[in-house]
Amino acid sequence: MDRVAKEVALTTSDWEMTFQVEVPAGPTRLRTLLPLVQSLTDAVVAAAEQADLGKGHSISCRKGCGACCRQLVPVTQTEARHLRDLVEALPEPRRSQVRKRFADARQRLEESGLFDRLLQSAAWTSATFLELATAYFQLGLACPFLEDEACSIHPIRPLKCREFLVTTPAENCSRPTPQSVRSVPLPVSVAAALARLDVPSTAPCYERWLPLTLAPDWAEQNPDEGCLRPGPELLGDFLAQLKVTPSPPTPQGEGRKMSHV
Ligand code: SF4
Repeated sequence: MDRVAKEVALTTSDWEMTFQVEVPAGPTRLRTLLPLVQSLTDAVVAAAEQADLGKGHSISCRKGCGACCRQLVPVTQTEARHLRDLVEALPEPRRSQVRKRFADARQRLEESGLFDRLLQSAAWTSATFLELATAYFQLGLACPFLEDEACSIHPIRPLKCREFLVTTPAENCSRPTPQSVRSVPLPVSVAAALARLDVPSTAPCYERWLPLTLAPDWAEQNPDEGCLRPGPELLGDFLAQLKVTPSPPTPQGEGRKMSHV
């Protein structure tokens, strides 16, 4: 399929970036833009990290520390379908092992009474999200992709995992409080922009999220990815969402996983 080159400029109070991106010219699904969205997220996070370093804050996240991988990690619907396919494409016996971890996590969430509320992000407010995230963290439920305290899908991990970096001592993340954990402030959440595109254009502007641990199951039951649209049009909508303030504001819209529990 023919591709169209576009220039994307992002400006914040601290920095300005310009990217050259390419999108398919013809009918495209949002999921096709995911690698581009991941690269954009990494670029924004890297620039924010540099700006934060200039203010004396350095990153304390290290490989082998999986404390934040036991938090409630919100993913977009687009990413949920991608994760479902990722699991299904794993070679055996790994596929069965990862599937079992997801099934075990689902069972724990059902037994805990959190299951239904975790799937109703449209009803989440900042307060309910905080309450859910606190209860979720207390279960000590590891992400099904966490192996030997490291992310087994690191290059293709979800956007929220990319957006969350802390500058406080790593050990604080195992018992996080708003006072003990500081994350790198991001000028914009690319993940939130993608989450807003998952909402029908007729709905009020809001975001849709799913807990990572329930994402493949949800995708299995919701396979419809919506209509195909010209790539440049889809990219234009996505970039427009980068500038939109969600209403009502949500903790996950601030560009991080739930860190303040
Ligand atoms: S996908 Fe990877 S980085 Fe994200 S929560 Fe799971 S193990 Fe951690």
